[in-house]
Amino acid sequence: MTSETITGITILGATGTIGNNTLDVLSRHPDRYRVIALTANSDVDRLYSLCLEHRPQYAVMADAAAAVRLEQKLGTGADIRVLSGVQGLCEVASLSEVDYVMAAIVGAAGLMPTLEAARSGKRVLLANKEALVMSGSLFMQTVEENNAVLLPIDSEHNAVLQCMPARYSTGTMPAGVRRIMLTASGGPFRNTPTEELARVTPEQACAHPNWVMGRKISVDSATMMNKGLEIIEAGWLFGLPLDKISVILHPQSIIHSMVEYDDGSVLAQMGAPDMRIPIAHALAWPERRVHSGAESLDLLAVQHLDFQEPDVVRFPCLELAREAMRSGGTAPAILNAANEIAVQSFLDGILPFSGIPDLIEEVLNTCPVNQADSLDTILEDDRKARSTAGRYMTNSPSRAVR
Ligand code: NAD
Ligand code: MG
Repeated sequence: MTSETITGITILGATGTIGNNTLDVLSRHPDRYRVIALTANSDVDRLYSLCLEHRPQYAVMADAAAAVRLEQKLGTGADIRVLSGVQGLCEVASLSEVDYVMAAIVGAAGLMPTLEAARSGKRVLLANKEALVMSGSLFMQTVEENNAVLLPIDSEHNAVLQCMPARYSTGTMPAGVRRIMLTASGGPFRNTPTEELARVTPEQACAHPNWVMGRKISVDSATMMNKGLEIIEAGWLFGLPLDKISVILHPQSIIHSMVEYDDGSVLAQMGAPDMRIPIAHALAWPERRVHSGAESLDLLAVQHLDFQEPDVVRFPCLELAREAMRSGGTAPAILNAANEIAVQSFLDGILPFSGIPDLIEEVLNTCPVNQADSLDTILEDDRKARSTAGRYMTNSPSRAVR
């Protein structure tokens, strides 16, 4: 700890939705937390205004030219060190004055700094699920070897953690657990006729019914690849095999997930769909004394809690993710890389929504899977999957949006 009472925090991905929610919770507790470092990709204006508001000691822009612009804008008076690139991100994830690292960069770009936080023995608040999906075994080993504390921010995994036996710590197989049930809203296209899915737009895909999120995870929610990634994430976090992780559609997003025990009890965690709740939980853990700012849950206003079986024909990404988990090794990294290319292509208007699972399946069928025992192999297979996906896009004009 930086002092007896003040906890130092780095926020990787401070300008994003999770970064924003984290800063909102922290600003309610200036006596307990000190923001040491804020990072962003390339949005200079946004990081500049966050710097003025939260006065970190460090600001990092992943983009080197953006870092130069931020430094000029801040001038010398601000007394904020500006760093850049992956090296800068890794540096602020491992500073001695930092106790907690909020890992909230989107996608594979978050892997290196998040892993660095684990290597430095920090409390890692993990929103960046892609990092764990890509490097599962290596990541969990790094956490264990360096006595880091890994706490999930993803609302489902945070809910599962809250429903686990007392003194449970992530990475171990929980005693007496029959299965966990991850809830899923089903996204904006839960009831859209499947023949219309080829024509849906990025704006429609990003209009999530219950949550306000970044564009990538919004599209992942619409294809349900988000839930697929979350199945893999849950496997690593809770040491559970695939047959103990089920998915249930729950359109209201009030129950955030459940744990069923051998004695037949089912524990559920409920709350308003507000990411400040899991963020406050992970900040306070193992205590519960951080106010999040979230509204009280009004069950009388909610009235109904509905449940449905997910439609595997409408959402083929769910099975693709399960298949990658069964294959093991670098298959989840390949799945993740193909998904990132497919989602970006959809957002750029060059791949129809219904082409996302097709592209991922082709890449999974093409790229050889290796043992995921070194970071180099994982990054190499990530690169190969991206170039394979890119090749398929250019070689199959029939795939393109018409
Ligand atoms: P976002 O798009 O709103 O923000 C992403 C952040 O990452 C931004 O600060 C951006 O500057 C930074 N970033 C992007 N590319 C980068 C790069 N190449 N190098 C360095 N930084 C980069 O995303 P979000 O919705 O806040 O999601 C962040 C992560 O949290 C994702 O992994 C997502 O799956 C996970 N998550 C989000 C939510 C949610 O409610 N938003 C819920 C659960 C999990
Ligand atoms: Mg989630």
